[in-house]
Amino acid sequence: MYIVMIASECAPVAKVGGLADVVYGLSRELEIRGNDVEIILPKYDCMRYDQIYGLQESYRDLHVPYYDQWVHCTVYFGFVHGRKCYFIDTHHSKNFFNRGVFYGHHDDPERFVFFCRAAMEFMLKSGKNPDIIHCHDWQTGIVPVLLYDIYKQIGMSHPRACYTLHNLKHQGLVGEYILRETGLNNAGHYFHFDRMRDNIDPFALNLMKGGIVYSNFVTTVSPTYAGEIKFTNEGYGLGHTLYVHQGKFGGILNGIDYEVWNPETDRHIPYTYGINNLNMKYGNKEVLRHRLLLRNDYKPIVAYIGRLDHQKGVHLIKHAIFYALDHGCQFVLLGSSPNHEISSYFWNLKHHLNDNPDCHLEIGYDEELSHLIYAGSDMIIVPSLFEPCGLTQLIAMKYGTVPIVRDTGGLRDTVFDADHAHRPYNERNGYVFHNFNNEGLESALHRAIGMWYSHPNHFRELMENGMRYDFSWNHPGQHYLNIYDYIRE
Ligand code: ADP
Repeated sequence: MYIVMIASECAPVAKVGGLADVVYGLSRELEIRGNDVEIILPKYDCMRYDQIYGLQESYRDLHVPYYDQWVHCTVYFGFVHGRKCYFIDTHHSKNFFNRGVFYGHHDDPERFVFFCRAAMEFMLKSGKNPDIIHCHDWQTGIVPVLLYDIYKQIGMSHPRACYTLHNLKHQGLVGEYILRETGLNNAGHYFHFDRMRDNIDPFALNLMKGGIVYSNFVTTVSPTYAGEIKFTNEGYGLGHTLYVHQGKFGGILNGIDYEVWNPETDRHIPYTYGINNLNMKYGNKEVLRHRLLLRNDYKPIVAYIGRLDHQKGVHLIKHAIFYALDHGCQFVLLGSSPNHEISSYFWNLKHHLNDNPDCHLEIGYDEELSHLIYAGSDMIIVPSLFEPCGLTQLIAMKYGTVPIVRDTGGLRDTVFDADHAHRPYNERNGYVFHNFNNEGLESALHRAIGMWYSHPNHFRELMENGMRYDFSWNHPGQHYLNIYDYIRE
C-alpha cells in the first residue's frame, strides 16, 4: 500500500510532543510491514537538520494557489532515520516556516492551511497518487476537505483520507478568510454545522471539525480518550460531531518505537540493561545524579518529563516536587513551556530549590537527557488533567521506571494500580489516582514511596511487570492497516 503522511511534526527532526513520535513510529512500522510510506512536512528553519540525511531539492518550482496569487515553493527530499520525507519551503515574504519556532504565532492557522494546500498541490503536480493520505491534528485538518472538494475533481480520485486526533484542546478556529486563502471559497456551504462551522462559536470555522467530517476514517490515540471526547467535556465542543460520525471513528492506543526507546540498546545511556540484568539500571542512576549534581544517598528518584502545560497538571507537578522531597525522595524535572507565565513559574521554583542537593529542575528541551532520566529514575509522575494517550508512561515502563498517573485517557488504558487494579499482580505496573488535586496525587505517590522503602522486592516486581508489556507499534500498526484496508474497499 502507498501511504502519504501529512503532518506538522516528525521525530526527531521537528518534535514538540507525542505527535512527532507517532508520525515517525507509525510510518516506520508501516514500512517494516512492506508498505511504501512518505511523509510531507513544512521545511522549518528550526528543524534538526543534523538528523536529515541527503537533503536535496526534489521539486524546484511548485506554484501554490494563495488567495488570488500563486506562491512559489520548493520541495526538498531527505531521509530521517530511514523515513522518506518531503519538506515544503515557501518563498513567500511572510516566511511561514522560518520563524525560529514550530508554533506560537498569531497566524498559525494561515501558516498550516497554506502548508496543507502546498502538500496537496505537490502531490498533484508530481503525480503522486497514494492509496491513503493520513493527516494529524488541527494543523492538517483541512487536507481531507481539500481532497474531497478540490483535488478529487482534478485528478486525485483514488486516495482515501484517514485523520488522527492527538489532542482536542487545540482545534484550529479560523475565520472565513481561510476559504479565500485555499480557494475553497463558498462560505455559505462551509459555514454549516454539518460541515466546518464550529459547534460553540458560530462565527468561526473549525479546521479539526473539517478533518472529522470529510475524512473516510477518524482515529484518536487511545480507546478511553475516544470515549471521553465523544461523551464528556474533553471533546471541547466536538463531542456531538464525533457522535454523529461514530461509525467511522475509533481509538487506537499509540505505540512507542523500541528502536529509539530500548534500555538494552540505547546509545544515550552509559549502562544498557534489560529485565535480566536490571541492576545495571542503577549505574544510570549514579550517572544521572553526578550529571545533575544530586547527592548519592539511599533514596528513590522521582521524575517528571514533559511539556509544562495546564493539561499536564502544573500545580500537581509542583506539589509532587515538595511532597517527594519531604518524604525521602529526590526529584528531577525536565520540561519546557512556550507560555511565559508557566515558564517563569518554574524558573522561580528552580531558583528557590537551587541549593537543594536532592532536586534538579532542567527547564528546556533535551532529548538526550530525557533518555538518561527515564533510565536513571525509579518513578515518574504523569498527573495530567487529561491525556489523550501519553507516551512518557510507556517509555518509563520500558526502562523499568514505575509510573504514577492520573486515571484519565490513555493513562487509564496502560497503567494498572499495584493495590487496586482488577488484574493479577503480575499485570500491575504502577500507581493510579483519581482526583485532580493534591490529595489525589499524594494518595498514589505516598503508596509508591512506601513500597520502594518497605517492600523493595514488590517494587521490583512492578518494575519488571511494566518492562514485560509490549507497547511497541506492532499491534497499533496492524490496526491502522486494517483501517486503511477497510476504507479502500
Ligand atoms: P504530549 O504529546 O502531550 O506532549 P506525550 O506524553 O504524548 O505528551 O509525548 C511527550 C514526548 O515528548 C515524549 O517522548 C517525551 O519524552 C518528550 N518530551 C516532552 N518534553 C520534553 C523535554 N523537555 N525534553 C525532552 N523530551 C521531552
